[in-house]
Amino acid sequence: MNLHEYQGKEILASFGVRVQRGIVAHNAGEAVDAAKQLTAETGTGWHVIKAQVHAGGRGKGGGVKLAKNLQEVETIADSIIGMNLVTPQTSAEGKKVHQVLVAEDVYYPGDSEPAEFYMSVLLDRSKGRNMIMYSTEGGMDIEEVAEKTPHLIYHEEVDPAIGLMPFQARRVAFNLGLSGMAFKEMVKFVTALYKAYEVSDSSLFEINPVLKTSDDKIMAVDAKVTLDDNALFRHKDYAEMRDLREEDPIEVEAKEAGLNFVNLDGNVGCMVNGAGLAMATMDLIKMAGGEPANFLDVGGTADAKRVEKAFRIILKDDNVQAILVNIFGGIVRCDRVAQGIVDAYKNMGDAIKVPIIVRLQGTNAEIAKELIDNSGLAVHSAIEFQEAADKVQEVLK
Ligand code: GDP
Ligand code: MN
Repeated sequence: MNLHEYQGKEILASFGVRVQRGIVAHNAGEAVDAAKQLTAETGTGWHVIKAQVHAGGRGKGGGVKLAKNLQEVETIADSIIGMNLVTPQTSAEGKKVHQVLVAEDVYYPGDSEPAEFYMSVLLDRSKGRNMIMYSTEGGMDIEEVAEKTPHLIYHEEVDPAIGLMPFQARRVAFNLGLSGMAFKEMVKFVTALYKAYEVSDSSLFEINPVLKTSDDKIMAVDAKVTLDDNALFRHKDYAEMRDLREEDPIEVEAKEAGLNFVNLDGNVGCMVNGAGLAMATMDLIKMAGGEPANFLDVGGTADAKRVEKAFRIILKDDNVQAILVNIFGGIVRCDRVAQGIVDAYKNMGDAIKVPIIVRLQGTNAEIAKELIDNSGLAVHSAIEFQEAADKVQEVLK
């Protein structure tokens, strides 16, 4: 689950990480009030207005702007809220902005060269360890830095059982070329950042830029946080931060129905029980010359209601030209699944306009095939894997 910048900063601050202060606003009036409050608290006269959407590169897309007085706060907030923000990380239509973060300006005037660093904490799956990735080249596209000047990116591997050792935090500060007060600040910063990552059960904390101010403070100016969905039950307060407006509506609906669903770009929808079989089925679709339109694991109970819901969700995707149902009847009997498919099909009337290939294997597979063949519906049945692949190929032609 991804968070907005302001939510990520809230979590960081709660672990003692210094962040650029800000207040969320939903309209221009609220933005002006927020700016006044920040001025009262921090003394800042200038503010940055930052679009809150789940996408990076907002600065490049015109979603981050500096306001030098309250009038500018009002007009900039008014122009950003409601806009469709297009950034290098969004689709061409962009993302609708519902709210902005009004933040204190931390790039003090007279700062000839504010130092911007890059820092992220993430899980390195290949090593089974956490990793801190950091660079002196902050504020810009880290992918570009990785491609053109990979030697400017440092890695600090952290054993999750031990945590970040003090010497490691000092090495980070040293490699970033810091000394004196800024060095100490960076040690504190990276230590608190790692703690926040660990305790919040996140899979990613990315801070770009980390700023060294002219008075040697180290602070997070941006925050991209991805929480591990499977650990959200331990963090009810974080779970409430979910912003459904930022997520794929079809995936949200599937989640509510208890289906494991990931939307993809292909033309063959698939409905499968079990994640492993779902992966194999996606391979099968590719071998048959198609591209999977989704990953869908209906789980152990493929009854008529669930099957119907799954069909409806798959059919919301206009790119779907065929649906392959591939279910192994182990605990659930194939004939019950077949009946579920027939019932769902009848229930949905004209909604199903694409060919359906059903492969049922396992307990009562033969009875299931008969049930489908005798239903009079436009459903192709198969028992063998290859048979199903051939039929997919056939209908795609
Ligand atoms: P992103 O473009 O989505 O990554 O959004 P960021 O939060 O990283 O902001 C983009 C850029 O805006 C940063 O790299 C900074 O250069 C700039 N910026 C952010 N905060 C301030 C600020 O307080 N003052 C000024 N002058 N610029 C800022
Ligand atoms: Mn950024």
